[in-house]
Amino acid sequence: PAKLSMSPYLVFCIYTIFIVVLAFINREKVDKQIIKIIYLLPNFSIILLIVQWKNPHVVLSGSAGCISILILYLYIQNTQKKTDQLTGLFNREMLCDTLNKKIIQDKPFSLVVFSVRNFKSINERMGLNYGDKLLVCISEYLESEITYSKIYRYSGDEFGILFDENDLKVKTKLDAISERFRVDWKIEETHCSVNTICARIDYPNFGSEVKSLMSAMDYSIAKLKTKTGEKNYIYDQTICKEMRRKHEIIERLKDAMENDGIEMHYQPIYNHKVGGFTQAEALMRLKQNKINPIYPDEFIPIAEETGIIVNLTYIMLEQVCKDLRKILDVKDEKIRIESFSVNFPYVQFLQPDMVHKVIDILDRHQIPPDSIKIEITERTLVEDENTVKRVMTQMQKKGFIFELDDFGVDYSNISMFMTLPIDVVKIDRSLIITAVDKISNRGFFENLIKGIKTLGKNIVAEGIEDQDVLDYVLNCGCDSIQGYVLSKPLPFDECLKYLIEYEKV
Ligand code: C2E
Ligand code: MG
Ligand code: MG
Repeated sequence: PAKLSMSPYLVFCIYTIFIVVLAFINREKVDKQIIKIIYLLPNFSIILLIVQWKNPHVVLSGSAGCISILILYLYIQNTQKKTDQLTGLFNREMLCDTLNKKIIQDKPFSLVVFSVRNFKSINERMGLNYGDKLLVCISEYLESEITYSKIYRYSGDEFGILFDENDLKVKTKLDAISERFRVDWKIEETHCSVNTICARIDYPNFGSEVKSLMSAMDYSIAKLKTKTGEKNYIYDQTICKEMRRKHEIIERLKDAMENDGIEMHYQPIYNHKVGGFTQAEALMRLKQNKINPIYPDEFIPIAEETGIIVNLTYIMLEQVCKDLRKILDVKDEKIRIESFSVNFPYVQFLQPDMVHKVIDILDRHQIPPDSIKIEITERTLVEDENTVKRVMTQMQKKGFIFELDDFGVDYSNISMFMTLPIDVVKIDRSLIITAVDKISNRGFFENLIKGIKTLGKNIVAEGIEDQDVLDYVLNCGCDSIQGYVLSKPLPFDECLKYLIEYEKV
């Protein structure tokens, strides 16, 4: 038999080892499934060698050629994973790889992301197909404006542009792109106006790792998106500080939930008809060190955004029921409190087991449902009006009382307001101030109060800071008063002391 030449196999072995080493060095850039296949190659080559050695009459050197083709195929697959199918641009994964490389080389850069604010509504109005074409059109425009390799599809309706740092050039380019976005886009003879926001971050100023830089970018975009129409460009290093603060607050909230760190303060509400305090609003506080306090205006929105609020609400309700139980048990004539108001965020109503959990907490402390007044805001109804109304009606039948908080600050849907199963309306401080400050507004305010009364609802005037305003709102027909003029929110014991003192006078 012909003597077997080992040289193709030797080359094949070296080739395989080379590929495996290369894949190992670049493992960040190679897809996990593809890495797995590559790591199997040495096993395959050993099997091939053994089979060849045992069967010298069959020539298997062609297998090495097949492996080369397989590797070429894997390379193409890997590249496809890094590009976006629709626009052909590199995707976010590829962007992360590139950023990583630049960071390792310590090369400064600027990342800019343009996000289409109204893309959802374009999709809804014009159809998904139109939306896709628009994205392609924008990507083609960006490619023509800037070198191809620097543009990325950051996410669905977001395009990233990576600049090697050159401050002046970046600014000029951004101005040109922003200018283009001010003009309509024409697709299939149909014009469409695209409303964009733009966020920019720099390396190393905004962070020294891909993760922190991407977080700063995502945070900037989210910040622009929540402030509808106010601003459309953000390039602000204080974002990093804000992010750290947010992180700290999330940690503090989680810690507070586990370690009894939540405390309730109570602000008495004066009932004009009764001539005394029959109610108080429960307001959440984080037990805290004096150096770094965190107030509700800061932690409540974060708790809502992260969903932490759901458990916080149950913890708060537990505490409120416990305190109310104490008042009912003491039976002190000077304490006329009959109910506590509690704030329920909109996400609470999206929990399928909410009613069950709330009733369970009340039952455990033997608190009747009408002693807990649930405050909601108009925002509660924005997400899913029908579900929320259904839950409210169901709870109302069981005896719960609902109050509409902060009336007059959010957008007010009057027909929704008229059909809402609420018993009490809390007029926000800002609306009262508008009436007090300008005499020409007073007629409207006074008629608004009358109008709400004709719907059979009680009215609490919130945020009253001085006696003149107190007298004015009572004259207008408000039933109850809550505000610093009477008392600030106080810890439970201090609140009881205040109530007893008030009755003595
Ligand atoms: P809110 O429910 O409208 O509560 C009234 C806020 O107005 C309280 O602020 C209270 O301290 C403040 N306030 C009372 N009287 C006056 C006044 O005369 N002048 C002024 N300028 N302000 C007055 P606080 O306690 O800082 O709470 C702020 C917001 O945080 C609350 O607004 C509520 O939306 C939210 N919040 C507080 N506690 C909870 C809670 O337990 N759960 C939920 N979901 N939200 C809460
Ligand atoms: Mg409230
Ligand atoms: Mg309020």
